[in-house]
Amino acid sequence: MSKAVTRAAWAMIPLGAVATAVNSLINDSDLHGVIFLAASAQVVIALIIRNLVNHADRRVWTALLLLITCLLTAQFLNGRSGATDTSQVISEALFLTVQLILVGGLVVTVQRRLGGDALSIVADSLIIGLGAWFVIWFAFLNPARKFSQEIIAVIALRGVTLAASSIVVFMLATLLLGDSERISAVWLATSAITLSLVGDLLNATDQSGRFEISQQLANSTYIASLFLVSATLLHPSVATLATRTAARQRQPLLGRLVLITSALAIPVVVLALTDPTNDVDRIVRTSSIFVLAIAVTSRVVFSVRANASLQQTLIVFAQTDALTGLPNRGLMLEHVSTALINALNDGRAPTALFIDVDRFKNINDSLGHSAGDDVLVAVAQRLRVALPDRCVVGRISGDEFVVLDAETKSSSEAVLLADCVLESFHEPLSLRQGDVFVSASIGVAIYLPGVTTTADDLLRHADTAMYRAKDSGRNCVAIFDESMLERVNQRLAIETALYRALERRELRLVHQPIIDINLGDVIGFEALMRWEMEDGTNISPAEFIPIAEETGIIVPIGAWALLEALTHLRGWINESICRRDATMSVNVSPRQLHDPNFVAVVNEALMRSHMPADQLWLEVTEGVMITQPDQALDTLRKLSAIGVRIAIDDFGTGYSSLSFLQRFPIHRLKIDKTFINGLATDSNARSLVKTIIAMADSLGLDVVAEGVETVQQLHALADLQCAKEQGYLISHPVTPEAMASTVASLDEIGKWPRLRPLN
Ligand code: C2E
Ligand code: MG
Ligand code: MG
Repeated sequence: MSKAVTRAAWAMIPLGAVATAVNSLINDSDLHGVIFLAASAQVVIALIIRNLVNHADRRVWTALLLLITCLLTAQFLNGRSGATDTSQVISEALFLTVQLILVGGLVVTVQRRLGGDALSIVADSLIIGLGAWFVIWFAFLNPARKFSQEIIAVIALRGVTLAASSIVVFMLATLLLGDSERISAVWLATSAITLSLVGDLLNATDQSGRFEISQQLANSTYIASLFLVSATLLHPSVATLATRTAARQRQPLLGRLVLITSALAIPVVVLALTDPTNDVDRIVRTSSIFVLAIAVTSRVVFSVRANASLQQTLIVFAQTDALTGLPNRGLMLEHVSTALINALNDGRAPTALFIDVDRFKNINDSLGHSAGDDVLVAVAQRLRVALPDRCVVGRISGDEFVVLDAETKSSSEAVLLADCVLESFHEPLSLRQGDVFVSASIGVAIYLPGVTTTADDLLRHADTAMYRAKDSGRNCVAIFDESMLERVNQRLAIETALYRALERRELRLVHQPIIDINLGDVIGFEALMRWEMEDGTNISPAEFIPIAEETGIIVPIGAWALLEALTHLRGWINESICRRDATMSVNVSPRQLHDPNFVAVVNEALMRSHMPADQLWLEVTEGVMITQPDQALDTLRKLSAIGVRIAIDDFGTGYSSLSFLQRFPIHRLKIDKTFINGLATDSNARSLVKTIIAMADSLGLDVVAEGVETVQQLHALADLQCAKEQGYLISHPVTPEAMASTVASLDEIGKWPRLRPLN
């Protein structure tokens, strides 16, 4: 159905061309009447068909119906010979109504399609209408008063109609120029309206008495226009004529400027070159120019105002954080700059607090990003309420807020301010999702003459101190001092050197044996990474592993460690240094588990070292089960499926819940050395270890105690039925070359000393 209607729409164009040609070439008034009637009838039919296909807005159809009725009636009255003055006035009034309906319809269409700029478009069109009115008065209406026998009402109505027509043309031009998608209906409607305006112009020229133009020619343009009206109505895109289009990046200005300038320039040129012919002409000229001047002035005032308010909005946007409404980084820097300049004059010491919401990533990952946004908004609100009015609060990125107190008198006052922020988080934040507790790490930097030179310095120092607060276990305050800068530089140096460490062969592995005291045998090893820089400095893994993790370098060096460790084990087995079923434990960081290639890396290391998967243990910390658990779970499941076993390292120090232990494919718990430490002396530690062992038993998990340093600890563990142990008592981590002698001396001990039960 819709295809047939589209075809019919396009068929209207050749049909209209034929009808127009016949009407212009054959001089037969009866035939002209028939053609006009046919053209009118097909418009009504097109209207009915469109209504059947789309049940559009009632108001649209009413306007269209009114428009077509007016047009046809006016044409009919106009075409009659010997028309009376009254019928002429009615006919002109109907023509004017047609133009006014068109103006109204176009204003709505332009506004809907192009959006908010419609008011300025209407103002521009008014100027153009007035300019056109002036030219029409000068070119057609004033001369017509001399020649024509028509009454003044007809002439005046015709002038207003022509002026309205020029507004219609302008609106059409705006629609075409400003539209981002020029749909066929816009083109067809534009052509139809333009042709009908050409007809009006021909008629007006004829009636002005200046040139004689045949009625037949004028009518032909109306007939062509009627066929194009049908084509517009039938084309399916007419249904979307008044829907909003995608906004253009740049509104086309040139066409509009040319039109407006001409509308202003032409009347001025006419005024300059011609004199009024009589008093009426003088009055019309003066009043028209006066109204035009008012319209232009209003338009200019409107534009200037709109520009000023737009500029204001842009400035606010550029300096405000959209989520919380707080000043953003740029504005905060400006505030700090001003405070520093004032500090030079009045001796006060501006203070910046750098506040980072602890574990915000966890909130985002577990509750979703919209809850994360709610937390940030609530934190912003909390800060504003908790801090005195003199403080400026800003959000400078993600979960980082900055507070500036430009008037701090002493460092103790700065600390009080920070404590006040920490305290404000003791109460939970009420979100739509429920109450959420958050804490924050706060870095405080106080203006130090000579050290703090720019606003950026003060914020950077506060940021550095904030990292110190995070390192000290979060939910606390750290105050910046110059030694922190050294630390930052040192960290940066480590980071840079780490990128080269692997290719410069500065990394190596040492291994710590794991024994089974019941078997009296070394049953496995843990691979531990060592880094000796080229200048001989040894960097501890506790220092460089977190940096490697943060920068992502852990992915390549972790892959290297895996292959290296398995190759060492393969060598020891081949040389009968250890049991054939001895295992290798390799530490794995969360970042490695989130690497999509990790399973392939493990497979390749197993293949290249010719080691079976069940002789590899991967040690992960509880943290991987908490942040992004789904991704880690997926990787661990795949690894478990190929036979690799998973151990939870440092068990008891994280915050994992029992449900995690059940959900994850875990085969071993390594009890953290802090619990083993107190085992022989602290009854609490002893009962905790006992509970962990009982829980592991019930879940069918293997247990290894790490950090065993004394015989007492060894006895206590034996007493609790924990046989697998690792620690300095048994052996420190040793180089691969020293492993043969280490294992040999451990074997010599044979069964570990007869175990005495602890009381
Ligand atoms: P971890 O996996 O828990 O390793 C055990 C740590 O405890 C090792 O420290 C080891 O030398 C130390 N240790 C062993 N027995 C005793 C003892 O009886 N008493 C005491 N006080 N400590 C003992 P190390 O080698 O400094 O490694 C520290 C941490 O660095 C490791 O803890 C592990 O989390 C990480 N790490 C080491 N190598 C790697 C690696 O290749 N990859 C990854 N991702 N992390 C690694
Ligand atoms: Mg470990
Ligand atoms: Mg450990």
